[in-house]
Amino acid sequence: MKAKVYYNTDGDLNALAGKTVAVIGYGSQGHAHALNLKDSGVDVVVGLRKNSSSWQDAEEAGLEVIETAEAAKRGNIIMILIPDQHQARVYTSDIEPHIEKGDALAFAHGFNIHFDGIVPPESVDVFMVAPKGPGHLVRRVFTQESGVPCLFAIYQDASGSAKDTALAYAKAIGGTRAGVLETTFKEETETDLFGEQAVLCGGASELVKAGFETLVEAGYQPEIAYFECLHELKLIVDLMYEGGIEGMYYSVSETAEYGGLSRGDRVIDADTKKRMKDILGEVQNGTFAKEWMKESADGLPNLKKMRDNLDQHQIEKIGKDLRSMMNWIHNDKESEPKKEAQPAE
Ligand code: NAD
Ligand code: MG
Repeated sequence: MKAKVYYNTDGDLNALAGKTVAVIGYGSQGHAHALNLKDSGVDVVVGLRKNSSSWQDAEEAGLEVIETAEAAKRGNIIMILIPDQHQARVYTSDIEPHIEKGDALAFAHGFNIHFDGIVPPESVDVFMVAPKGPGHLVRRVFTQESGVPCLFAIYQDASGSAKDTALAYAKAIGGTRAGVLETTFKEETETDLFGEQAVLCGGASELVKAGFETLVEAGYQPEIAYFECLHELKLIVDLMYEGGIEGMYYSVSETAEYGGLSRGDRVIDADTKKRMKDILGEVQNGTFAKEWMKESADGLPNLKKMRDNLDQHQIEKIGKDLRSMMNWIHNDKESEPKKEAQPAE
């Protein structure tokens, strides 16, 4: 099956006419959505906690900021852009009491709807517009007259026009300039969790660590192992991003191409794929979501332990020293509104 893609002509901003969008949260996604909506002429208000450190940033950017509950009351479209693990609590206390028939509840990730952390009333639309990129990119490319591709999905269509609203929203944040792909809350949530666990965050970092350890245990200098197994990964990933796996192999030496193609599947083999399927199973049957919600509610005891373990790993210590030799790394980093300290639960 090939996904259907929607472009600018498929979205009509008139679907947002006379409506107020309440963007709840002003972090990575929140600042980008709010500013892009405003620049598209949409009436937007940002909802935050009274003591939020982002309050001033949002006001200085020219946005109207009010408390979350008030924003939920004002908004006809309520886009929830706070961290996934806090959404259910904030929804119950500040949003649910103010959501009315005819309103729309919107998300940039399907987690809480798909795993029933949030159960919206049947009288409202529920849709998702999820940019496939971090907020600073969503904002930057928008100001350059372009856009980041988005996924969109309809979970509940009470009004009969949820799709028009979702596509108009995607257009207003720049998504239809690049292309917007239709998905479902289930597909987006499950593939997103699987991707970050098995490939992007979990899989890639364990691959790097295992390669580093293999070289260091064989007596090679850790600095050299760091460059080979971690630092140079960026070059390879950039090549894949630009030209796919073939494009990457086209750009590296023929020695690297032959070595990679003939050896790679001995590292990642059928057993690895079997374990990936197990991980996907835990995502699909809700085991992971349940475990993560409990971990979050308990104050993150295991996450803190795993962070400490990682911090003690030689690759992290050596990396700090080596990166301080590369002053361009931090200079190039895009500025993004800083994350607030998470509230103590
Ligand atoms: P973030 O951590 O960058 O920002 C969260 C913001 O929410 C904070 O800056 C603060 O303004 C606010 N906030 C935090 N706790 C709050 C609370 N208890 N009550 C009210 N406001 C609170 O979050 P993010 O990365 O922008 O993620 C927001 C949503 O977007 C999530 O659903 C996430 O899955 C999704 N998403 C993120 C990305 C990404 O690249 N970061 C990409 C696509 C989708
Ligand atoms: Mg993700």
